[in-house]
Amino acid sequence: MDAKNLKKFEKEMNTCIRCAYCFEECPVIEQKGWDTDGARGKVALSYGLLSGDLEPTQSIADKLFQCTLCRNCESKCPSGVEVCDIITSARADLVEKGYASDIHNTVIKNIKETGNIYGDTEVMAPLQEGEVPLFVGCQYLSRPNKTKKYIKILEKLGINVKVGREICCGFPMEVLGFKEDFEEYKSRFTELYPHQTAITFCPTCTVFLKEGHEIDAKHVLQVILEKIPEGNLGMKATFHDPCDFSRTLKIIDEPRQILKKLGVEIVEMKNNKGNSSCCGGGGGILMSDSKLSDDIALARIRQAIDTGADTLITTCPTCETVLKKAATQIKELEGKDIVVRNIEDIIWKGLA
Ligand code: SF4
Ligand code: SF4
Repeated sequence: MDAKNLKKFEKEMNTCIRCAYCFEECPVIEQKGWDTDGARGKVALSYGLLSGDLEPTQSIADKLFQCTLCRNCESKCPSGVEVCDIITSARADLVEKGYASDIHNTVIKNIKETGNIYGDTEVMAPLQEGEVPLFVGCQYLSRPNKTKKYIKILEKLGINVKVGREICCGFPMEVLGFKEDFEEYKSRFTELYPHQTAITFCPTCTVFLKEGHEIDAKHVLQVILEKIPEGNLGMKATFHDPCDFSRTLKIIDEPRQILKKLGVEIVEMKNNKGNSSCCGGGGGILMSDSKLSDDIALARIRQAIDTGADTLITTCPTCETVLKKAATQIKELEGKDIVVRNIEDIIWKGLA
């Protein structure tokens, strides 16, 4: 097939030495177990599509879409293979051949027609004048209470944010294989968000404002850490590092320092910090393969329960949603209890 997106990564694919270190702690291979579920197999499939040894089929497309883009493989790879770039390029070539799933097509149509992933035509952004530009993002715009909480926290700490009308950053276009659509969409984004800097609420928006739009984005926790006072929450909790937070942005200490200052004792899970396990919500599988997403989330919530903490704190709205569902399932399946909270709820309580 014409594999123009994969073509750019031909050399990259050839640096794979087939050692399989990438299989260790890949959340997909842990659940499914085939070579093609891990990075090595996905790189081989991609190379086959590029060389023409493989013709695109639905089962190849399914394998290449069954990846959370968690970057665990990249952190283990001795050859530095940029697995996620290869997989998203393979997806782009497959999408051009008509292999996008219905649900992914719908999300992209929603972004193009309404500017947000949910297709909501009446997004009520908390518009306000202020000194520092804030990018709220689709996930927080759809959770107005959480957004208000974060804005109020910033106000309490003396930071006044400016909120304007905004549209999705376009990250789903890039990772679900709609790269050409993103090229067209990018100028629409810049018209509405002309700033060179941003405070962001969502780890993934933070990454994509930097990588897709060259904006100097700072996650809100990096700003909060500079100003947070001592608190006295007296809680014990475990902490889930979202993949984009710990592996892509390398923001690892900041949330832990904030929680410690507020009086939260952190008990680490088996996989933590740069070696954190994915929640199962990334890479589009939450929409296109909910069974796989649920199974990965259950494995993660079991790690949290094993710490003995009764609360899991995270910093990403998708991780929070996915892990809350897993917490409900584990209660039904095994009678075990754990409460899942996002960090703004804890900071809000700590500043009360
Ligand atoms: S760890 Fe890297 S080099 Fe080894 S098989 Fe996986 S992708 Fe290839
Ligand atoms: S990005 Fe994550 S899910 Fe995808 S192949 Fe690598 S380790 Fe597995």
